[in-house]
Amino acid sequence: MKLPAFDYVAPASLSEALAALRNNEDAKVLSGGQSLMPMLAFRLLAPKLLVDLRHIGGLSDILIDGMGVHLGARVRWCDILEDDRLATAQPLLRAAIGHVAHYQIRNRGTVGGSLAHADPAAELPAIAVACDAVVEIAAASGTRRVPARDFFTGPMSTGLAEDEIIFALHFPPWPEGRRWGFREFSRRSGDFALAGIGLFFDMADRRNANSHIAVFGVGDAAARLPEAEAALDGAVLDVAAIAARTAEVSGDIHASAAYRRALIETMTERALADALARRDH
Ligand code: FAD
Repeated sequence: MKLPAFDYVAPASLSEALAALRNNEDAKVLSGGQSLMPMLAFRLLAPKLLVDLRHIGGLSDILIDGMGVHLGARVRWCDILEDDRLATAQPLLRAAIGHVAHYQIRNRGTVGGSLAHADPAAELPAIAVACDAVVEIAAASGTRRVPARDFFTGPMSTGLAEDEIIFALHFPPWPEGRRWGFREFSRRSGDFALAGIGLFFDMADRRNANSHIAVFGVGDAAARLPEAEAALDGAVLDVAAIAARTAEVSGDIHASAAYRRALIETMTERALADALARRDH
């Protein structure tokens, strides 16, 4: 379907973009266009003006420092997937983004667009909520920071005002040794998830601590699961390591004791995963 008619500007600075939003009724920000363009094509929206962020400097940077990972609003999915630093600095994010859509969409879709679009089945909002990330928002009056948990207010809705622009998303530091997992189920690879979970926890005195679990694709917005988090906190989940450390092991011509200990750890992990996956219903 043909798009409705609209005017288009691509300002060179954030202040010009904010002025364009403020001075024009019915103006919309354009980032990667991967959600906005389909909405225009289906006539779900008919803005009079599109304000393209593509020429604004600094919005495409991924910064990693002692305060964590900082994603500019125009960082694309492919930028996240191609940045090897994130394998240790934010592995949960990287794993989740690997499930977003298809190559062409990952080549254009952006962090800011996904946050503003607020699809309940989108991966980034869920990871932002799981990790206590903070959304940085620019307005003519200055910038404000909103915890991701408070930013999403319902299906496709956020606390963003019409004349505000998402500037960046800030993730707190990711400590070494943190355990994490990401799983989603969708009908076909690249489809939006029917249900997904992102979680992590830290180990303190061989017990789980600081458990964070977020679910998405199942309700109005990505959400934390405090009861499940509390159940995970305090549990002893390094059972496999304990099994390997405490088993009496000897070496022979077939395998050394150290090799057998490593095998015990791996076999215990796999048997536990099997046990957890087995259900009577
Ligand atoms: P745009 O389309 O440019 O904008 C989307 C909305 O956000 C608009 O309302 C726009 O005004 C607003 N906006 C954009 N940037 C800003 C900003 N910086 N500040 C304020 N407002 C802003 N996403 C997933 O997460 N998982 C998937 O599995 C998935 N599958 C997809 C499959 C298909 C076939 C398609 C077409 C899309 C899919 N998407 C999926 C969506 C995709 O990730 C989009 O890229 C993303 O939702 C929006 O990002 P964008 O940069 O394209 O935003």
